[in-house]
Amino acid sequence: MRPSACPGLVRVVAAADGGLCRIKLPGGRLDAHQARAIAAAARACGSGAIDATNRANLQLRGIRDDAADALTRALLDAGLGPRIDADADAAALAASDDARNLMLSPLAGHDPAALVDSRALSMPLLDMLAREPRRGELSPKFSIQLDGGESVAALDHPHDIWLAAWRRDDGAVRIAAGLAGCPPVAHGDRPASVDVSPDQSVALVRALLLAFLDLAPADVTRMRALLATCGERPLLERAQHYLSFPLAADPALAGWRRMRADPALRFGAHLSHDAARCSVGAQFVLGRLDATQLERLAALADTNGDGTLSMTPWQGVFMHGVSRERAPATLAALASLGLVCAPSDPLATLVACTGSAGCAKAHADTKQDALALAARIGRPLDVHLSGCERHCALPHPATHTLVAVAPAHYDLYRRAAAAGLGAPLARHLTIDQAAARLTGAAQPGHTDA
Ligand code: SF4
Repeated sequence: MRPSACPGLVRVVAAADGGLCRIKLPGGRLDAHQARAIAAAARACGSGAIDATNRANLQLRGIRDDAADALTRALLDAGLGPRIDADADAAALAASDDARNLMLSPLAGHDPAALVDSRALSMPLLDMLAREPRRGELSPKFSIQLDGGESVAALDHPHDIWLAAWRRDDGAVRIAAGLAGCPPVAHGDRPASVDVSPDQSVALVRALLLAFLDLAPADVTRMRALLATCGERPLLERAQHYLSFPLAADPALAGWRRMRADPALRFGAHLSHDAARCSVGAQFVLGRLDATQLERLAALADTNGDGTLSMTPWQGVFMHGVSRERAPATLAALASLGLVCAPSDPLATLVACTGSAGCAKAHADTKQDALALAARIGRPLDVHLSGCERHCALPHPATHTLVAVAPAHYDLYRRAAAAGLGAPLARHLTIDQAAARLTGAAQPGHTDA
């Protein structure tokens, strides 16, 4: 078993504002009953504050030291644990929980634009991850994406293994796969490494996991680090040992690119397979909600939808099964709950980490500063406020990043063509100065220093 400091269902980790419990939701999905159970547990065992994470999970904050066991029990009773034997011991439960890092589109199983039902495909994959005897050797951060080709998808969030549906010239839908990255969308992106039929995808993922564990030294926990030392070919050759079919890539995959996903589609109504119903999306302000909001979301899901919700990698939510007639009223209800409901909202693309209110490493109260920044800018900008140089709220650089150096003071970076934050544009800015700089930077014809 690999020791871990990551929060989980049975591993409440200390933070500046109390214990932190991460609830990994299968493909981001939960139902209204589970949402109520989470809200009740957040209130009974913690501060009531809840984070929506960039892996479409939920985190409960401020958990009291004496409440961790009761919290875990309440969440397991609500069906929020991994699907394993009821008598599994704590170590087996923790290992199964840690392995459940499977990213789906929040519209998985609903979007008529998808090439496959990725939600259906995810079930045996999650079962395999929860039961594979070697799952405890994986880092809890080791993550997998399953992209069914939905119109709403996270395509800039690198995963250790990614799978993406694509259609061959003969019409057959296949599953392309790649390592340490994202499905290719632009001309220069790394193409897929192999492809398989949909019913071979679980065996493929298991083979890739086992090959990774066979080849990775003890201090290498992520696919990117392994590929940097041994390259892709040895890993694929090792994976072949675990497969009963030959691993290969269709030559057409070299030119295949996944359709881009429009970020504006994260908000509002989307038609589903049932033409009379839709899914309605919105985002939590700076990724934070509270127990009362979650309870009201659950009630809305029951009255206006089919009682199911999907958390999103953009720290938001989709409510499913809403009748087309009730979609506008549902969106209005989400707005009245305090959610961001339009891509034109200044908070639509603003990201802030936990900040000094909950993280001892933070140099500033990023969430309060982000609200102040949004009020000054008044329109959406792709900006990430990070309390320290770890940048853990966003898995890829935003167009602009503000890194806190002191309370309410930040260094400003603009994303470079190469990976990383790029060179600093300015140092030690106040929020007023940052707003002026960002507003100027966004004006046509402006050139940053
Ligand atoms: S980026 Fe730094 S300050 Fe912000 S939550 Fe992560 S560790 Fe804490």
